[in-house]
Amino acid sequence: MLSSMRAAVLEEHGEPLSIEDVDAPEPAPDGAVVELEACGVCRSDWHGWQGDWGWLGLETQPGQILGHEPAGRVVAVGDEVESVAEGEHVAVPFNLGDGSCPRCQRGHSNICENVMPLGFVEQAQGAFAEQVHVPVADHNLVKLPDGVSSVDMAGLGCRFMTSFHALAHRADVGAGDWVSVHGCGGVGLSAVHIADALGANVVAVDLTDEKLEKARELGAVEAVNAEDVEDVPGEVQAITDGGANVSMDALGIATTSQNSVSSLDAHGQHIQVGLTTQDEQGMVSLPTDAMVMQEIEFIGSLGMPPTRYDEIFRMVSTGKLEPEKVVSETIGLEDVSDKLESMTDFETVGIPVIDNF
Ligand SMILES: [Zn+2]
Ligand SMILES: [Zn+2]
Repeated sequence: MLSSMRAAVLEEHGEPLSIEDVDAPEPAPDGAVVELEACGVCRSDWHGWQGDWGWLGLETQPGQILGHEPAGRVVAVGDEVESVAEGEHVAVPFNLGDGSCPRCQRGHSNICENVMPLGFVEQAQGAFAEQVHVPVADHNLVKLPDGVSSVDMAGLGCRFMTSFHALAHRADVGAGDWVSVHGCGGVGLSAVHIADALGANVVAVDLTDEKLEKARELGAVEAVNAEDVEDVPGEVQAITDGGANVSMDALGIATTSQNSVSSLDAHGQHIQVGLTTQDEQGMVSLPTDAMVMQEIEFIGSLGMPPTRYDEIFRMVSTGKLEPEKVVSETIGLEDVSDKLESMTDFETVGIPVIDNF
């Protein structure tokens, strides 16, 4: 076992992460230590780096190691761990559950009453490091099947899990439905790809032609550049001849949330997966009267319970989902700060994955 390891440590919000040697984790009795092979870098890391989400009790503190999309091999397990062993190839969900609360017992550990968001709180140090500790390993670790590599898994990251749970479990996407996706960052592009695989017709909305191009590659049948049209919901209504059946805000700002709701047809379902920024602090006003008159649903969706990862793995192994298509590049641990910096101006297309720690 390592006694110390390289990690990218948060010193000050918005300032470059410090690459330094820190104590390597040791497994708690119910925990496991995973040696990283890959870890995605996503907008949630950017929010953690900015110190957002204090209104959710998730403001990161100096000394925090970010990073919540790890895959790798188990190198140590605590005495009480039964279901995973050293050497096994695993992924780690980003919202770790305690495994024992009523929600976890019912299979909904993605919204555990004592959820530990990996990389956001001191007791769940993240994966921008050579190793990461996973508490309650029997409950939280997901074994990777053959044919899903660590880089694939990091490409799946939180975005595929989030989008899949939202579209396949929380909303009711059927073949031939119109699905509009507002915001084509990692989670939005994943949603485009998944909705297409589920048989829907997808309209992608973003401000960047490059991201819309990527959305088309991933299966969008129409793309709307919100910069070029006066009325985004009106444009979606026109394309879909009356409105989308399901619409997702994959970004989490007031504009995209409102546009998504207003893009729906009667009985449509809006899915909110983007968490908001400092501007909204969790509060977005909505066209509530129109939602009543048209019986529109507003659905929140967070991550995915680890018990259902297999559904995605089956679609990856048969080639229906191709996580590598959202991976833009592989990088080293020391490059993370630059990537976070470029997310500030929404310059990144697709997902950088760290494969060199
Ligand atoms: Zn729980
Ligand atoms: Zn993520």
